[in-house]
Amino acid sequence: MATHALYLILGDQLNRQHTWFKEKSTQKTFLFIESREEASYAAHHIQKIVAFFAGMRAFAEELREAGHQVRYLKLHDEANQGDIPSTVAHLIAMEGYTSFHYQLPDEYRLDEALKSLEDRLSVPVTVSDSEHFLTSRTDFQTIFKGKKMYLLESFYRKMRQKYDILMVNAEPEGGKWNYDHSNRNPWKSDFKPATPLLFHTDVKEIMEDLKQAGITGIGRIEPANFIWPINRKQSLQLLDYFLENHLPEFGKFQDVMDSRNGFLNHSRLSFAINSKMLHPLEVCEKAVAFWRSNDDRIDIAQVEGFIRQILGWREYMRGVYWAHMPEYASMNYFEHDRPLPKWYWTGDTKMNCLKYSIEDSLNNAYAHHIQRLMVTGNFALLAGIAPEEVDAWYLGIYIDAIEWVEITNTRGMSQFADGGLVGTKPYVSSANYIDKMSNYCTGCHYSKSKRTGEKACPFNSLYWHFYQRHRDKLEKNARIGFVYQTLDKMAADKKTALLEQAETYLKDIEQL
Ligand code: FAD
Ligand code: SF4
Repeated sequence: MATHALYLILGDQLNRQHTWFKEKSTQKTFLFIESREEASYAAHHIQKIVAFFAGMRAFAEELREAGHQVRYLKLHDEANQGDIPSTVAHLIAMEGYTSFHYQLPDEYRLDEALKSLEDRLSVPVTVSDSEHFLTSRTDFQTIFKGKKMYLLESFYRKMRQKYDILMVNAEPEGGKWNYDHSNRNPWKSDFKPATPLLFHTDVKEIMEDLKQAGITGIGRIEPANFIWPINRKQSLQLLDYFLENHLPEFGKFQDVMDSRNGFLNHSRLSFAINSKMLHPLEVCEKAVAFWRSNDDRIDIAQVEGFIRQILGWREYMRGVYWAHMPEYASMNYFEHDRPLPKWYWTGDTKMNCLKYSIEDSLNNAYAHHIQRLMVTGNFALLAGIAPEEVDAWYLGIYIDAIEWVEITNTRGMSQFADGGLVGTKPYVSSANYIDKMSNYCTGCHYSKSKRTGEKACPFNSLYWHFYQRHRDKLEKNARIGFVYQTLDKMAADKKTALLEQAETYLKDIEQL
């Protein structure tokens, strides 16, 4: 009997270098499914849905052109059952495939769904590695075996050694492992980031298909000018452009926020990397090679700062995810339960910092790390928003939001809902930090320097309210002790006014 194998390629598995594609065979069919369930299990940004479908269509075309057999199921295709497992089961039952192959999914939800599909199928199933990450799902547990805390720094150093990145023999190049302190320059009025590289891809056909299927998504899109990379060629162009134009200043102003430009000198490579159009090691190696041949204009601090995000944080977050799912998705250390204000979905708030960060997100399906961490995340944590609502927002709104990296950043780094697995202390601040790092406070309805009274900045009182209400959980944290010393030294009437101001704001949170 002739054999014919079915190979499933998920939307975030667009890895042209995978060994699956080394040889052509008439006995292999590569399957892509535009799944209604995947497009609607969260309130996804329309640019996110389009980016994944456009990436899948472009990849399928590339494989066809290279002589591979491809089965591409659009949303309205008769064989498409709406979700991935049912569609695979349907095709195998109807079309006589003799084996089924898939790559390890990165989301727990899909991993479980495909594992349970195996039991329902009557053909042999093979699972392959996605050949993308620099660590396996279980490496993390081995590295931190017996340790109470996972320190990013120890993990990152091991990764630098393992992949020989920025190393001279066994020592870090330049004599230091980490140049983080050089990456925190404050906002300056003459700060001018390089112009971002935006693509102009026409995605009207996908938009029409989505419209017919009744999938609208959230946020805005320009279908004649889709700005994100949707194939490997564009992804490599974006990487080269970043290295040439943004890397020289990337680290220096990495934490800065600016109402005039949401992209600044960030790489905007997260979608290209998370969908696997780019491999993290090739990104790191290219960055190091570029720095070596341009060390007259690029400092080691810039390149190290960039490498640390990819070789360090990105792999580290994946390690935390697989070490702690599925429990991670319900961790809520502070027992926060307030609903997410509705203005998170519209940007309709008088707080400039939130307005700009949310508008950037709605316009571009993107906000950079500090907008996510120190504005939208900071406010949600100070206000005690339920982590599941915060997660749902981050999972929906960003082009790069895939659960393994979204939830660890949101629940872990940003909301401290894991009680300190990812971060050693909560990332919260008053207006001071936001003002130092951005131009948001200028022209804001609220006054950055007022703590109480009319137009006092909400961050200023919520900050103290947060520490006061979680004293039992945070007081013993050595990195926070100074906060409680300040709180205790505060005059009683001042403290009461501050806490009352926060209560008033929390009661009327939708009006802020
Ligand atoms: P750059 O600033 O140019 O950084 C370069 C690359 O480093 C990124 O492309 C990314 O691959 C990697 N990187 C940087 N920081 C992190 C990090 N903390 N974790 C993992 N990788 C990192 N990143 C996602 O990819 N998906 C998410 O859903 C996501 N959700 C987040 C939610 C919150 C609350 C926070 C605080 C951060 C989140 N991040 C997420 C991490 C980070 O903000 C984004 O990776 C980054 O903003 C993407 O933009 P960029 O490509 O321009 O990154
Ligand atoms: Fe945000 Fe407060 Fe500054 Fe306004 S004053 S932008 S609310 S930090």
